[in-house]
Amino acid sequence: MYQDLIPYGWNADFQAAFLPFKAQGFLPGRVIAEHRQHLIVITPQGENLAVVSGKLRYRAQCRADYPAVGDWVVLSPFQNGERSKVQAVLPRQTRISRKAAGEDMSEQIIGANIDTLFIVSSLNQDFNMRRLERYLVLAKNSGAQTVLVMNKADLCNDIPARLAELSTVTQEIPVLVLSALDPESVVPLREYLAPGKTLAMIGSSGVGKSSLLNALTQQQSQRVQPIRQRDARGRHTTVHRQLFLLPHNQGLMLDSPGIREIQLWEGGEGLDAAFSDIQTLVSHCRFRDCRHEKEPDCAVNEALGSGILDKKRWRNYLKLSDETLYLEQRKAQMREIQTRIKAKNQYKKARREALYGYLIKR
Ligand code: GDP
Ligand code: ZN
Repeated sequence: MYQDLIPYGWNADFQAAFLPFKAQGFLPGRVIAEHRQHLIVITPQGENLAVVSGKLRYRAQCRADYPAVGDWVVLSPFQNGERSKVQAVLPRQTRISRKAAGEDMSEQIIGANIDTLFIVSSLNQDFNMRRLERYLVLAKNSGAQTVLVMNKADLCNDIPARLAELSTVTQEIPVLVLSALDPESVVPLREYLAPGKTLAMIGSSGVGKSSLLNALTQQQSQRVQPIRQRDARGRHTTVHRQLFLLPHNQGLMLDSPGIREIQLWEGGEGLDAAFSDIQTLVSHCRFRDCRHEKEPDCAVNEALGSGILDKKRWRNYLKLSDETLYLEQRKAQMREIQTRIKAKNQYKKARREALYGYLIKR
């Protein structure tokens, strides 16, 4: 085991995955920040800058095949001061993904190998159930343990009513009600911190993520540890780590930027899990292919009629289903195009080789 990496989350599973690379003299490292030209990695030899090797670049079929913050990577040996090269990415235990912004049809990994994901929301006016449903689909698909943190309890005058409203949406996910301004109330959050565990907070900006982090660390300066570095033009630039150690060996925290509108990368099981109440209803419709419109004995319509199922929740479910279905179709199209390009290249290569063989024979 690489003892120095254990506080950064190195464990027996990563060690096992790394073994074949170890035999070849490679080093493991964890990506703690991502910049345009390079990555910052923490290695048994300390912190280093790394670039993606040509081989990995060649093999990568999509953006998600490139290392992301939180990834454990395989590095070629390097001298002090040299940039190391990322040869491979070790299998991710969890991944928090979203669709890249705009027209870009690619998966953007917000964080890899996150053990616990805090979805932070606030109990004041900004409270938005539909956004929360979206976050929950993303969380369910990530594989990370998920906790809902309802902040700004001091600004809410009817907490029980809000919690009742929340219960259909959150289902079995633990919900913590607290106020970042009241250190006592933040104590339950600490239960999720542990040495070597990686945490992440996601939520819209303004919900209180930085305040919570400060309450957890109780040292404002811990949050951002800027380092000064020379950029390509020789200027000094300040960079800060996106993944950093919490004080007192309490694990690691991923500092992700505030996300206003999150676009899902996939629906699938995460969508079913986040809306398991709806899945149950659907299974009670008389017809297996019920469209929940005018069909008789439609359990969904009955639940909507009696108010058991909130109309807004149902509409949001349909919206997210449509959105992710469209995405799946686009992804399939992209895969098909890629396969065709590959086949074409292979054909060209084979033809070149055949011609070459013919020339040699002559
Ligand atoms: P972030 O964008 O999610 O990191 O949110 P910040 O931590 O910057 O908080 C946004 C604003 O909400 C700041 O003015 C905080 O002081 C305030 N705030 C954060 N948590 C609480 C809370 O529990 N109660 C109250 N009343 N204000 C809070
Ligand atoms: Zn139905």
